[in-house]
Amino acid sequence: MSTATLTIDLDAIRANWRALDALMTGETAGVVKADAYGLGVGKVARALAREGARSFFVAMAEEGAALRAELGPGPAIHVFSGHMAGDADMIGDCDLIPMINSIDQMIRHVEALPGHAFGVQLDSGMNRLGMEPAEWAAMRDVALEQTPALLMSHLACADEPDHPMNAQQLDAFRAMTAETGVPLSFANTGGILLGPEYHFDLARPGIGLYGGLPFADASPVVTLDIPVIQCRDLAPGETVGYGNSFTAPRQMRVATISAGYADGILRAMGPKTNLWAEDVPCPIAGRISMDLIGVDVTDLGYDPKSLELLGRHNSIDTLADNADTIGYEILTSLGNRYSRRYLGG
Ligand SMILES: *Cc1c(COP(=O)(O)O)cnc(C)c1O
Repeated sequence: MSTATLTIDLDAIRANWRALDALMTGETAGVVKADAYGLGVGKVARALAREGARSFFVAMAEEGAALRAELGPGPAIHVFSGHMAGDADMIGDCDLIPMINSIDQMIRHVEALPGHAFGVQLDSGMNRLGMEPAEWAAMRDVALEQTPALLMSHLACADEPDHPMNAQQLDAFRAMTAETGVPLSFANTGGILLGPEYHFDLARPGIGLYGGLPFADASPVVTLDIPVIQCRDLAPGETVGYGNSFTAPRQMRVATISAGYADGILRAMGPKTNLWAEDVPCPIAGRISMDLIGVDVTDLGYDPKSLELLGRHNSIDTLADNADTIGYEILTSLGNRYSRRYLGG
């Protein structure tokens, strides 16, 4: 079989949630948008629920409906995009909590589903989602009369502890939420690590659950093993792959492995990335193609059956650095051709 194997350690996800929850002074939710950062929302959310998570966040109502089907009644499911036109049935039937982003959404929500739970998303400076301070000031009394379940805002620079934006957003969030009596949510993974001032009542970690920075103490969650299809000898001066971008400087042995950029192995990571055979690094040779990658196994001394791209030696952040991106993009790019294997849970 030429399918690569993506192993997802649900016990590591549970351990990461527990570790963040131990740091968090209030309640800890789980962010499972985008299919739990590409790792499989059903299995991940059920594992988190078993570990004790009672609140979840998704990006859109469709994701919330799918999550409700996985979790059944009980856990709170919040939707970052709020209440969009056409969402009322899903929000009502699946008992979702839209995080209202504007006066228009507020009106839509109370007209379509009077009395149905909602939260409010406030913009403390990121200028992405949520009500601006002036909009909120105008709405605040009316909104509070409808007893929102949660007020939240999101940090733009939480992964940079020394960034002045953090304190600036904290002040803005405090000013907007003072004396509301409503539960508050501010911290993502990075926000939990900034310390108790940033915690409030409910934290929303995502990346830290899945083993990514800025949660440096996270347990690794994903392993990716890619089968070798064939190996060949190269004479000095022979080239490998598209564009002849790699020329053998010496007598070499090259393995062709069965995955490529169509599986989320970003082309940009090629020049800096090693695959691993146990503890031996094997550099990528030439360009990453759609379904195939050439790997230099000369120094290995034998032809491996498979090579590891993610695991003990390469974290999602190693690959992210190599491709000049972030661990979030490595995870959410992981392709759907992999054979997925779940551990624990
Ligand atoms: C994605 C997201 C989170 C989770 O952030 P991480 O950095 O992955 O912990 C929290 N809140 C909002 C609004 C988000 O969009």
